[in-house]
Amino acid sequence: MSNNQSVMPTYGRFPIAFDHGEGTILWDENGKRYLDFLSGIGVNNLGHCHPKVVDAVRNQVGRLIHTSNLYGIPNQEKLADRLTESCFADQVFFCNSGAEANEAAIKMARKSMRDNGKTSRFEIITAINSFHGRTLATLTATGQEKVHRGFDPLVPGFRYVPYNDIDAVKSAITTYTAAIMVEPIQGEAGIQIPDNGYLADLRKIADDEGLLLILDEVQTGMGRTGKMWCHQWSDVIPDIMTSAKALASGLPMGALLTTKEAAKAFSPGTHGSTFGGSPLVSAAALATIETIIDDDVIGEVVPKGEYLLKKLTELMNQHKLVKSVRGRGLMAAVELNSPAEAVVSVVLTRGLLVSCQMGTIIRILPPLTVSYEEIDEAVSILDQAIADIF
Ligand SMILES: *Cc1c(COP(=O)(O)O)cnc(C)c1O
Repeated sequence: MSNNQSVMPTYGRFPIAFDHGEGTILWDENGKRYLDFLSGIGVNNLGHCHPKVVDAVRNQVGRLIHTSNLYGIPNQEKLADRLTESCFADQVFFCNSGAEANEAAIKMARKSMRDNGKTSRFEIITAINSFHGRTLATLTATGQEKVHRGFDPLVPGFRYVPYNDIDAVKSAITTYTAAIMVEPIQGEAGIQIPDNGYLADLRKIADDEGLLLILDEVQTGMGRTGKMWCHQWSDVIPDIMTSAKALASGLPMGALLTTKEAAKAFSPGTHGSTFGGSPLVSAAALATIETIIDDDVIGEVVPKGEYLLKKLTELMNQHKLVKSVRGRGLMAAVELNSPAEAVVSVVLTRGLLVSCQMGTIIRILPPLTVSYEEIDEAVSILDQAIADIF
């Protein structure tokens, strides 16, 4: 890989560039093989270049790429039907990223309160160590000081509470509160899984106080945890849910999904997107959701996730350095008693992609199509690296 000076250095990049991929496997420019247990940060849930997605994109790209939302887009309508059939939602708004979907959710919460005569209510309660995006409003929603630093004044109207702490949410509610917004599992924070009942308690508080419950399923959705949407592990129904990452298998797409009631806030002219739900991206998303649900890729997630967690538990039992392991479906983490950066770098040189979160946590997000043999191989690379480094 070249030492390019023209791209802004907003990321700490590894000195590797990939050339092609298939399923869980990536090959770099030198032909070296890697197991991708990060899936482009939870994007390639069907693995690299899934034939159904490739076919759908190929068929669409030579026919029509973009027309704008001034006209009907049949693929977008079919996709919206599939998405609403997959969950509580009645309606979908399409945009291009997770941040944009959350931005739409924030706007919808404010407007919804205004339209319902609760004019003082605009604040949104979010969780510490959450991640909701990098636009000015969504970076403010993000409960991490390091994401805020240097960008003040931040957008007014956000309050932060510790994740998985119901009493803190209750104490944070004022006459200004409009909504509670959380991830059903915190992804960037290193796969933080709340107690059973957390979402149900949030739902009850929202109902009692007349607030909207917004679930950010940008990372947890599209089958990642073994249900199409992570909150479906509970009986909880949010008012608004956001999706992105895996939604169109790597073509950029975000979506806000909501009830008819909350959707009233977005009448014609109140919100929009030039690219959102284009014929091309919608074709990719439609092929993705059809493959995950109709081909029952989702049915394999729970057994594979259990197998992965079993292997990670064995790893923990062999290394004092591993503090804990956790996961739901194919969203897993290995937390170390020391910095995880070195392990992530070493396993990369040995052909395994994972990421380091919060300094000491190794995040593992393989494609939902991963094989049991690939899980064995990945855990064995981790095992060897931990043994060698420490
Ligand atoms: C990645 C992520 C986002 C931001 O998505 P972008 O597409 O990068 O804007 C928002 N929320 C969660 C939970 C995420 O994991």
